[in-house]
Amino acid sequence: MIDDGQRGQRRIDVDEALPSVEIPRRILNDLYAHAIETLPDECCGLIVGTDEDRFQRLVRCRNEMTMHHRQDPVEFPRDGSEAFYMNSLDYMMVQEEAEARGARVTAVYHSHVGVGAYLSGMDLAYAESASFPFPDADHIVVAVFDRKVDSVAFFRQDGEGQSFLGRTVVSSES
Ligand SMILES: [Zn+2]
Repeated sequence: MIDDGQRGQRRIDVDEALPSVEIPRRILNDLYAHAIETLPDECCGLIVGTDEDRFQRLVRCRNEMTMHHRQDPVEFPRDGSEAFYMNSLDYMMVQEEAEARGARVTAVYHSHVGVGAYLSGMDLAYAESASFPFPDADHIVVAVFDRKVDSVAFFRQDGEGQSFLGRTVVSSES
């Protein structure tokens, strides 16, 4: 597969001209492990932190897109290998626990299987929909090819109502 079937739709790629984002190595290791374990489906989950320390903890969520696809293939034309839909109980529990500790969900992550690390038209539609639970969160996308992590990218909205900008990611030790 060379494409996610989103030809002609908008997508956001990494802008190599922008500075990289540093993400702690232990968070990236958790992310990569989740992406491999979830194959052939995409993984998804949340990063919890604060404005000062954005990447404190990674929490996995269940991707229930395959279930939605089976129940309503018109509304949900793709299954979990091509798209993600976070289980709402999972993300609500993460959100509650984070807020109880004075933290919040700073980023939402998911994987792509057999396509690159970009925000697809469908990712953007989900992130910008009224039902998306974390409109202020950043996005992290990890691309998996041949059961190996190929690349990872970080996306942040450039101000309210603005488009996302994509950056490369480097690991840090902290
Ligand atoms: Zn995606």
